[in-house]
Amino acid sequence: MPELPEVETLCRQLKTILPGEEILRIEILDARLGKIEGLVGRRVEAVKRRGKFLQICISGGLTAELHLRMSGRLFWQKGGVPVFAYSRLVIAFPAGTLILIDPRRFATFTVQPLESTPALVEDPLGGLSAHRLREIARTRRLPVKSFLMDQRLIAGIGNIYACEILFAAGIDPRRPSSGLSPVEWRKVAKMSVAILERAVACRGTTVSDWRDLFGCGGTNQDHLAVYARKGEICRRCGGRIERITQGGRGTWFCPSCQQ
Ligand SMILES: [Zn+2]
Repeated sequence: MPELPEVETLCRQLKTILPGEEILRIEILDARLGKIEGLVGRRVEAVKRRGKFLQICISGGLTAELHLRMSGRLFWQKGGVPVFAYSRLVIAFPAGTLILIDPRRFATFTVQPLESTPALVEDPLGGLSAHRLREIARTRRLPVKSFLMDQRLIAGIGNIYACEILFAAGIDPRRPSSGLSPVEWRKVAKMSVAILERAVACRGTTVSDWRDLFGCGGTNQDHLAVYARKGEICRRCGGRIERITQGGRGTWFCPSCQQ
């Protein structure tokens, strides 16, 4: 599932291509996306990210908002009319074609007036306030890893980055989020930004099927300290990485480095 660094990677790549381009044609290949009307002939003015939503701002005060959900991928093709398995949406521009590929069909694409997009929860790439995190966490008993992954509180941290952030901060993922000290929240906030910024610089983490706009894998998997490393040696202390299950998801951590 694309997390925040992957969506940011797509956003930065789209920014280099789409602004100024006219929408020539829209083909909806999956009726589940619903109707998409009124975009042909308009120009892209900007591309933005709001949490894990990609926003394409279009002339005339419209915003097309895309969420990739479980398995959505965006692919850019210069020239030609490409046919891919699981293509759900094709948008043609003079410079090329943008294709939404989505085997599980949960991705959404909606068009709305510019001003109607609601305000966002905390966006870690904008910098996280340790004080604010502690305020939100004060009354929550859920484990700190689940807290970081709650999309209603913080946008875009999924399983991979939650494990890596807590390792970098030296925090045991099982601890209740209400029990972290101000110093520990400062570490979590600082490491969240650092881990996610590195992942963006690496164009995401390719451990399964993530590909960027041009079909290339990311390189952040080379930097993973704990994720999917059960039984391997911790590079910090020489101990063994362990795996537990939390909320139905695997959690990898180092029991001696994370207290
Ligand atoms: Zn360790």
